[in-house]
Amino acid sequence: MNSYLEKVLRDTEQKNIHEPEFLQAVKEVLTTVEPVVDKHKEYENIALLERMVEPERIITFRVPWVNDAGEVIVNRGYRVQFSSLIGPYKGGLRFHPSVNQSIMKFLGFEQIFKNALTGLPIGGAKGGSDFDPKGKSDNEIMRFCQSFMTELYRHIGQDVDVPAGDIGVGAREIGYLFGQYKRIRNAYEGGVLTGKAVYYGGSLARTEATGYGLLFFTREMLAAHNQTLQGKTVTISGSGNVAIYACEKAYTMGAKVVAMSDSNGCIYDENGIDIELVKEIKEVQRGRIKEYLNKHPQAKYIEKTGEDSPVWTIKTDIALPCATQNELTLNSAKILVENGVLAVAEGANMPCTQEATDYLLEKGVLVGPAKAANAGGVATSAIEMSQNSMRYYYTFEEVEAKLEQIMVNIFKSCKEASEQYGCPGNYVAGANIAAFRKLAKSMKAQGIV
Ligand code: NDP
Repeated sequence: MNSYLEKVLRDTEQKNIHEPEFLQAVKEVLTTVEPVVDKHKEYENIALLERMVEPERIITFRVPWVNDAGEVIVNRGYRVQFSSLIGPYKGGLRFHPSVNQSIMKFLGFEQIFKNALTGLPIGGAKGGSDFDPKGKSDNEIMRFCQSFMTELYRHIGQDVDVPAGDIGVGAREIGYLFGQYKRIRNAYEGGVLTGKAVYYGGSLARTEATGYGLLFFTREMLAAHNQTLQGKTVTISGSGNVAIYACEKAYTMGAKVVAMSDSNGCIYDENGIDIELVKEIKEVQRGRIKEYLNKHPQAKYIEKTGEDSPVWTIKTDIALPCATQNELTLNSAKILVENGVLAVAEGANMPCTQEATDYLLEKGVLVGPAKAANAGGVATSAIEMSQNSMRYYYTFEEVEAKLEQIMVNIFKSCKEASEQYGCPGNYVAGANIAAFRKLAKSMKAQGIV
């Protein structure tokens, strides 16, 4: 690694020693953009990389709320406004007990690159809370969201920062957050949040966008290697928003999905997963994936016992990790390779550990990196913002066609960058390089800010 990159990496490690996920994300980018940095010696003089790895602003705040038993609970809220270089801060909100500053910063950092790849004018941010929505009543969720927004509202706006959903934040939570924002501001600023329900300003196809986009990207990646999804076996981790619509689109493209999971375990159905049933269990009843067996007793349920998800032990052509960060370990990657996996495309953010990614690439497995492969969600959020500004709606087909074109373009950028910089077929490096070039040019143009 060249001395400038080495220095930035060392300093970043020292400054953020207690933030392993953030350091993992930074390291992956810095180690792959070396060929670009080598060509631009001037970057060092303007501290371009030092500025790129430092968030513009981190906001943390107290979120007090009252549960149904009348007890006062205090959670911690976050918003990391990482970069406004190419547009208003944009990125989801995550409600999960594991949320901490490291996870918020890694997600915010990834978001800058992802948003740059979409070709749309959106900066990078991420936020959330260590609040656990599991097992909470609707009223508890509403009170928490109202308290969270009572602080967050002063930091966001449709031209400033536009949050959306992520783990634990779906249409229900966005509705409560939007209602409170509107009440405090006394104005209908539709574009301040995306992922809204369609009947009050949301976009058709936003719910489906990340999962569908993942499959458009996977289709393009396979096509570049003379393969198709037709007749392929697919396994998917998670059974939330991204996983469900990835499954739906995989079927439309002629593949067969045989496994899905949640944090407790996975289901394996050799007849093909009944996706309408998964939707009913997870989206309507907010239940657990093992309830699938009540209706399909021929399926198998494998409980998660250790660190590794059992879903990766099932033989598959294509693996789609769609749950959370670092869920696909080196050990799981080895099993997937032994079982002949052809491609791994990341629906979740940073789901493969660095060791797993390196191993998969070394073994010639096609890897669709999250920044590129799951960018369809945020791209469609930007399309939702445009519709809100125009006070107009596109049809489902119009939004899906735009999403498809964006995913085709993203794959093309990753492929071209990987070829131009001497690592053909390595779309992890390709995605980082394509996004980095655009961001670096914009940073240079905007001076030292
Ligand atoms: P959801 O909350 O809808 O679903 C999350 C799924 O992942 C659930 O099945 C959940 O299981 C599982 N999961 C969560 N945490 C863990 C864990 N620690 N171990 C194992 N399984 C876990 O979230 P989304 O589908 O929206 O998000 C999934 C991933 O996709 C995240 O990485 C997110 O950042 C990324 N993403 C989402 C986008 C979107 O538009 N929603 C856009 C781009 C990326 P359980 O129910 O047991 O918790």
